[in-house]
Amino acid sequence: MASTEHVPSFAHLEFDTPLYRTAIAQFDQAVPHAKVDAGIAERLRHPERSIIVSCPIKLDDGSRVVFPGYRVQHSSVLGPTKGGIRFDPEVSLGECAALAVWMTWKCALLRLPYGGAKGGVRCNPREMSHVELERLTRRFTSELLPFIGPQEDIPAPDMATNEQTMAWMMDTYSMQRGHAVPEIVTGKPIAIGGSVFRHEATGAGVVMVIARACERLEWRLSEQRCVVQGFGNVGGIAASELHDKGARVIAVSDLSGGVLASDGLPIPDLHAYVHEHGSLAGYETGVERISNAELLELPCDVLVLAAREDQLTGENAGNVRCRLVAEGANGPTSIEGDAILAERGIPVVPDVLTNAGGVTVSYFEWVQDLGRLFWDRDEIRRRLADKLDDAFDRVWALAEKRGLTLRDAALVAGIREVASALEARGLYP
Ligand code: NAD
Repeated sequence: MASTEHVPSFAHLEFDTPLYRTAIAQFDQAVPHAKVDAGIAERLRHPERSIIVSCPIKLDDGSRVVFPGYRVQHSSVLGPTKGGIRFDPEVSLGECAALAVWMTWKCALLRLPYGGAKGGVRCNPREMSHVELERLTRRFTSELLPFIGPQEDIPAPDMATNEQTMAWMMDTYSMQRGHAVPEIVTGKPIAIGGSVFRHEATGAGVVMVIARACERLEWRLSEQRCVVQGFGNVGGIAASELHDKGARVIAVSDLSGGVLASDGLPIPDLHAYVHEHGSLAGYETGVERISNAELLELPCDVLVLAAREDQLTGENAGNVRCRLVAEGANGPTSIEGDAILAERGIPVVPDVLTNAGGVTVSYFEWVQDLGRLFWDRDEIRRRLADKLDDAFDRVWALAEKRGLTLRDAALVAGIREVASALEARGLYP
């Protein structure tokens, strides 16, 4: 008879990478507080399905290249899996697995009927033409056809993918089905069933969560000095929303480095510049150029991390000089960085809560597509604020009651929802 000692280890699998270890270490830290059955905890430690595909495409110069693509579906217990697709040279099965795990807790925390997924293609999108990106997206979608669907797994944009990418995915899927299937992806153009608020949803949600945190801390948002790392979809919109609400955004950055103006940056000008030139590189008017490492250590009130994972670590968390960290990106704080910030009394509003505006409005988009109905911006914004405020308040109350960090409280809330569903379905005693 087999015993748990003879159960095969997953440690050798390809998703055993630093980011996946961070996701699992966070889970292991939170799970004792969730008081769930040991069998359930073990089930949730492993993604349900991890897919590797090969995407052969012809480049513009006539050569042929095969790009590796990935999709990890962590948990389908609450409903279809849901998660972004990224194009990045660092994408790996392990990175997707970690991001899929976080998506599960995020959807559950927000009480959305989804489990977590994530996918991507390992490529350098900045070196590829529009046509090459279209070929790659269509081939990747074709390879994923047996595994995705409006009731199975619903992709969305993430790093270096956007409305156009989603339109190509929707079109490739729909051609195979013989009719338009808008509900196969979210974050698509409005013309094919996209939400009028999806583009801004994640960044706007980040600022709704920061505003709620400020209320609880009895700070006035309009008096805060903010630093935003990342000036893409999430960071760019978050910077605009902060600016519009009267907060002073003193520094922002992208891959090309950062810009600093202690009196506040002209955010609309920066957007116009990036729109014209592709990045912040070369923007010099009235600003001091700084590196990304310097940006993270600037004295400020709110530090918004909206670029990518692993930015605050054991190396630099001791030098951070903000009063609050808001994680717009997924996994931007390492386990060591988190422990240092907790010890220094700097609250971290975690990714699974702070950037949940994206998947929440994606859920609204999917519901609207399934029902063939459309809500206007004000209605979506109001419904989003209700969802985020509710999740924030539950996390804050749990953290206070149990003396937990906001991250542990958010994970506990998410894990409990999934565990209850597993129990209710009779999958675990
Ligand atoms: P994006 O590609 O639109 O923007 C990323 C930005 O970060 C760009 O400005 C890029 O130049 C910058 N950047 C990349 N590496 C950097 C570095 N090392 N230092 C400084 N800047 C750097 O991507 P996005 O959609 O804004 O996603 C950003 C993060 O937010 C990712 O972690 C993503 O998973 C997460 N996220 C995105 C969404 C969404 O709806 N787009 C939803 C939830 C979470």
